Amino acid sequence: MPRVIEKGCVKCGACTADCPVEAIHEEPDQFVVDPKICIDCGECHCPFGHMGKIPFDFKKYKKVKA
Ligand code: SF4
Ligand code: SF4
Repeated sequence: MPRVIEKGCVKCGACTADCPVEAIHEEPDQFVVDPKICIDCGECHCPFGHMGKIPFDFKKYKKVKA
C-alpha cells in the first residue's frame, strides 16, 4: 500500500531524502508520493506527521462485500 502525503505538508523536503527510489516529488501545493514508484519501504518520515498510507477502510469493504 503506497504512502501518501496528507494535507498540511509544509514542503520542507525532508521526506525526499529518505526515499531510496525517488518516489516523492514537489508539486505546487505540497510534496506528493507517486504510487506507481513507491515500494512501501517505510523509510520516509515527516517531522510534521504528514506521511500516511493511502486510506482504505477494510471494515467498510468487508461490510459491502458481506
Ligand atoms: S515508503 Fe519508501 S518508496 Fe514509498 S515514498 Fe516512502 S521512502 Fe519512498
Ligand atoms: S517531510 Fe513532511 S512537511 Fe516535509 S515535504 Fe515531506 S511530507 Fe511535506
